[in-house]
Amino acid sequence: MSFTLAIVGRPNVGKSTLFNRLVGKRLALVDDQPGVTRDLREGAARLGDLRFTVIDTAGLEDANDDSLPGRMRRLTERAVDMADICLFLVDARTGITPTDRVFAEILRKRAAHVILAANKAEGAAADAGVLEAWELGLDEPIRLSAEHGEGLNELYAQLMPIADEMAKRAAQDAPVTDVMLDEDDTGETDGAGHAPTPERPLQVAVVGRPNAGKSTLINRILGEDRLLTGPEAGITRDAISLRVNWDGIPMRIFDTAGMRKKARVQEKLEKLSVSDGLRAVKFAEVVVVLLDAAIPFEQQDLRIADLAEREGRAVVVAVNKWDIEDDKQQKLRDLKEAFNRLLPQLRGAPLITVSAKTGRGLDRLHAAILRAHEVWNRRVPTAALNRWLTGMLEQHPPPAPQGKRIKLRYMTQAKTRPPGFVVMCSHPDKMPASYSRYLVNGLREDFDMPGTPIRLHMRGQG
Ligand code: GDP
Ligand code: GDP
Repeated sequence: MSFTLAIVGRPNVGKSTLFNRLVGKRLALVDDQPGVTRDLREGAARLGDLRFTVIDTAGLEDANDDSLPGRMRRLTERAVDMADICLFLVDARTGITPTDRVFAEILRKRAAHVILAANKAEGAAADAGVLEAWELGLDEPIRLSAEHGEGLNELYAQLMPIADEMAKRAAQDAPVTDVMLDEDDTGETDGAGHAPTPERPLQVAVVGRPNAGKSTLINRILGEDRLLTGPEAGITRDAISLRVNWDGIPMRIFDTAGMRKKARVQEKLEKLSVSDGLRAVKFAEVVVVLLDAAIPFEQQDLRIADLAEREGRAVVVAVNKWDIEDDKQQKLRDLKEAFNRLLPQLRGAPLITVSAKTGRGLDRLHAAILRAHEVWNRRVPTAALNRWLTGMLEQHPPPAPQGKRIKLRYMTQAKTRPPGFVVMCSHPDKMPASYSRYLVNGLREDFDMPGTPIRLHMRGQG
């Protein structure tokens, strides 16, 4: 379990110095990827046994007046939204300035966790400044010297419990893999307990071909122009996440503009799956496959959608630029037909028409994402499953290869995220794929589970 730390503070407090100290030479690892923007740097950091991602907002050297221009505020807010923990640096030698107070206010309102550090704290000359930092009302400041490497133990001590807490939460989320653990079903099927929280935002990836409108869509969602859109190549960023409260639901959205370059160079999906852009799909709980209504279901769209399914992610298909379609009804029929034909593995996934430009359909997209997430987390009680299985077997008995009927004895849901089921049966190796499909489609319909992959394993009883 790793986390993201953002170093924020006004220019000249020592952010870059600290960034370099935490990242060391490891920056080289991320540096050859196109940067997030010119203003944000990201690096792989290490402190003791902690491994994490650190973001630095130091691209603001030229904005060093105290008026806190909008650009600085926006950049900081963006870093805060991307981070799990914010490290707020002030300068112990100059003491607290009005700009520091503005930063403190942003952080208090917006950040999940804030750690305050008074930097340049080596020597007695810094004592007064460290004391002053208390005024910010953000807990006890760490005495830090980024330049001399002092106070890093204290930083570690503050990061540790937060990282621990996050790891614990992640572990609670981990799927139950032992079939027998399922015995104490509570009877709930609604996926409750997985509602997104600020600490555990819903992870969404927006994927799709170049020019499908990913940046435009994300900008819409963010409600302000935080990403660069438009045709200029090279200024878009690699897979990166943004925190947002979309209609009150905490989400972390991964933008995958970087995916396209890799996809073009490399033909093979196997190669694709290790490329950086696809990290977004791996991190995501829900993948939004964004199509361009004018050219839907191109090879690249199909590959990405298939990959998301194979990775076991919940999938929502959104058809963008709906504002420029004339015959919307006919178009929608065509799209649905093409969807069922070209992506049978995603049967039942929602197909939502949107316009990132005008904002139309975004409420439906929002609802579809939430629902897909809920279904992805759903657990069906064993008793209900077995009643259902009995009905399915009666309706359409399993085949009898070489005159021996395959017996399906018992069924249970072994995991969630995505839902995975185990059927105990005789001769699991002889079970034809068509019968498994019959069961999966039945599960999807009878338990109302659209938009999520469903895994079904046949297991013999020894
Ligand atoms: P940023 O603008 O916040 O990224 O700040 P920099 O990292 O560029 O540092 C600004 C100046 O403060 C540089 O001249 C650094 O050498 C200096 N500096 C950074 N950390 C320390 C420190 O711990 N002690 C002292 N005395 N100077 C520091
Ligand atoms: P990305 O490459 O997927 O990030 O795509 P962009 O967001 O950069 O959008 C590509 C182009 O499509 C831009 O010129 C956008 O203005 C345009 N665009 C995006 N969404 C819409 C939409 O809903 N309707 C229309 N008409 N144009 C759109």
